[in-house]
Amino acid sequence: MKMILVSGGAGFIGSHLCERLLADGNRVICVDNFVTGRKENVLHLLSDKNFSLVEHDITEPLKVKEKICQIFNLASPASPVDFEKIPLEILAVNSAGTGNMLELAAEKKARFLQASTSEVYGDPLEHPQRETYWGNVNPNGPRSCYDEGKRFSEALAMAYSRARGVDVRIARIFNTYGPRMRPDDGRVVPNFIMQALHGKPLTVYGRGEQTRSFCYVSDMVDGLVQLMESDYSLPVNLGNPCEFTVLRLAEEVIKICGSSSKISFKQLPKDDPTRRKPDISVAKRELGWEPEVQLHEGLQRTIDWFKPVK
Ligand code: NAD
Ligand code: UDP
Repeated sequence: MKMILVSGGAGFIGSHLCERLLADGNRVICVDNFVTGRKENVLHLLSDKNFSLVEHDITEPLKVKEKICQIFNLASPASPVDFEKIPLEILAVNSAGTGNMLELAAEKKARFLQASTSEVYGDPLEHPQRETYWGNVNPNGPRSCYDEGKRFSEALAMAYSRARGVDVRIARIFNTYGPRMRPDDGRVVPNFIMQALHGKPLTVYGRGEQTRSFCYVSDMVDGLVQLMESDYSLPVNLGNPCEFTVLRLAEEVIKICGSSSKISFKQLPKDDPTRRKPDISVAKRELGWEPEVQLHEGLQRTIDWFKPVK
């Protein structure tokens, strides 16, 4: 039985990861300050004697008595809406916060996995994106707190690996969706689902020709666990390589919801990446991982979860 710490464990992906790690027979310490996560996401786990929830802001050092084998560092707001609202907190958690989790990993001799992002590629000039691509990031635009924060967190993890011998893993997560996203999160999937369920117009930014590749959360959690267990210590893209335009996503959501909603075109936010699609050959080769849940099925499951929230 391993003791595993998940920072950001009360968030969307983190709560699914905690659930999975417990189901695999581990003990889990979930650390979260609830800035974008919710206690409700892990309420059902609180009665499990192998689960504990610690309310803590990881930009402050964390003392843990127990021996820890693994740390998954998922703590960071991730919605472009938050990039505007709390940029300083995002920079702090990805720099000082990641540093504190790496210090803990060094102290405990624990393996450390950093949740990085496809945003390290910015508005990519290479398509699909491979891990070897260095990216096209605006260093001071409205998304820079997140993009540069995550790039810094990768640099920090690699520096702890080189200078302090910490065993690190880096997951470059591409757009992931599923149950437990906040209805008011601001990201495209919850926005469209809530709008369609309420019969309101779906707010497509720009002409909706920009693309994203959407990964269902159970696939992402499998990928994160497999990466943590692997011997591969360079960055790995985790995402579903099936690429869709945002307009197609809107049409798909309207169809599955059986909604009468129309589409309303709004201004495209500054620096919105034009295309995004992961090359997952490294994940396939090194982890034997590839996503199984395709968009239609994943949206159906997500919509079923959102429906009672209506
Ligand atoms: P989320 O906002 O639901 O989860 C993030 C969690 O981190 C929240 O519970 C939040 O309260 C917590 N947190 C933030 N700052 C903290 C701090 N200072 N101290 C303690 N806890 C803190 O978002 P998510 O979609 O579940 O994302 C999880 C991780 O995956 C993030 O690091 C995100 O950058 C990364 N990621 C997600 C996606 C995606 O599409 N969902 C894509 C790329 C990367
Ligand atoms: N988007 C949209 N309408 C919305 C929210 C987002 O058209 O109500 C678009 C956004 O401009 C982007 C894509 O959907 O091109 C994905 O946005 P999201 O905020 O989910 O994440 P991103 O991939 O931009 O980080």
